Amino acid sequence: MNDRQPIAGAAPLPRHSRQARVVWGPRTVTVGGDAPVRVQSMTNTDTVDVIGTAIQVKELAHAGSEMVRLTVNTPEAAAAVPHIRDQLDRMGIDVPLIGDFHYNGHRLLTEHPACAEALSKYRINPGNVGKGDKKDKQFGQMIEAAMRWDKVVRIGVNWGSLDQELLALLMDENLRRAQPWDAKQVMYEALISSAIDSAKLAESMGMNGSQIILSCKVSGVQDLIAVYRELARRSDYALHLGLTEAGMGTKGTVASAAALSVLLQEGIGDTIRVSLTPQPGEARTQEVVVANEILQALGLRIFVPSVTACPGCGRTTSTTFQELAKQIDDFLRQQMPVWRNRYPGVEGLKVAVMGCIVNGPGESKHADVGISLPGTGEAPAAPVFIDGEKAMTLRGEGIAHEFQQVVQDYIEKRFGATAGEGPQVPAPHA
Ligand code: SF4
Repeated sequence: MNDRQPIAGAAPLPRHSRQARVVWGPRTVTVGGDAPVRVQSMTNTDTVDVIGTAIQVKELAHAGSEMVRLTVNTPEAAAAVPHIRDQLDRMGIDVPLIGDFHYNGHRLLTEHPACAEALSKYRINPGNVGKGDKKDKQFGQMIEAAMRWDKVVRIGVNWGSLDQELLALLMDENLRRAQPWDAKQVMYEALISSAIDSAKLAESMGMNGSQIILSCKVSGVQDLIAVYRELARRSDYALHLGLTEAGMGTKGTVASAAALSVLLQEGIGDTIRVSLTPQPGEARTQEVVVANEILQALGLRIFVPSVTACPGCGRTTSTTFQELAKQIDDFLRQQMPVWRNRYPGVEGLKVAVMGCIVNGPGESKHADVGISLPGTGEAPAAPVFIDGEKAMTLRGEGIAHEFQQVVQDYIEKRFGATAGEGPQVPAPHA
């Protein structure tokens, strides 16, 4: 006798949110409800640069971004938006554009109807729509534009630009409490109230609540978790989730993954953006790669084939397996924009690249295609496993290229409609 019990698997909790429909031309991306968690990103080009912006939108879309946001801050930027949309349509880039407005969005959306029409969604920051009696009027002008053109709005509150009048009001109210809250709790309340009150105001103006998405972004992981749990408890609007100003590199990636994973596991978040500061020379698409990896690691979405690679240890004194793992990973990612349509289901492929005999054959057998490279002192041969069976042994200088071709052949055979039509793997250094 023992007390062993089957261990229940973990699965994200469900949260029912209303579903927004982000439309461009005849196409639609749904956000919330039963839709998968959507990935979005933001350009960092000057929106006035139509070609440069269109190229970056294309890169973000190819990396897996399902919506792309642009800064719309001047009349010139607003005038450029319809040209960017046209350019993307000419390039066959099937992704909706979101306009990011602050301070003058009411004027830009009114005075540039072609911009208002070309965008699929408007981001409105209630902390930046105007002060005093102008605030509701200017907010109302943006909501009217959204209703006129049948667009989704995101009411996006950010603690860096929080509505100061609302914050002052809540602080006064707090002072009258017998036991005042601490300042952080008042700030949480101001963020949430600003978002929900603005959404209610938009609905009172006639906006369909399903077309409203909310966000309350902060830059602290625990703050974000606390705010979104409460936001989700108090409303059923679809939620845009992201850690604002996450930072650079490893720090920004880990902080975003930590915050978003906790909330997504609780069913909170209908669309995500990872706000990474690109490192010098780093592609803007890195924020999309990280967002995709967060959702894929949680088992919520599958975007690209996964490459399992061991970390290496004292049994691997060369960098061969690191280089091969990277080559295969890069190869799979580069091909995905084409493969998505050509090989339905290919994103579920599992490839293993292992460093030695200890875990190599075992891990490789669990993958669809796996290779176990020779560790230090082992015979210079790399057995390849396909669907759990040893299929061949690769040797010599061309292992990397040959293994890529094995993966390509496997994909063509398993996912291709017609054998033999897949792209050939380019020769190394070609
Ligand atoms: S598979 Fe081999 S090389 Fe890789 S970590 Fe394990 S023991 Fe080290």
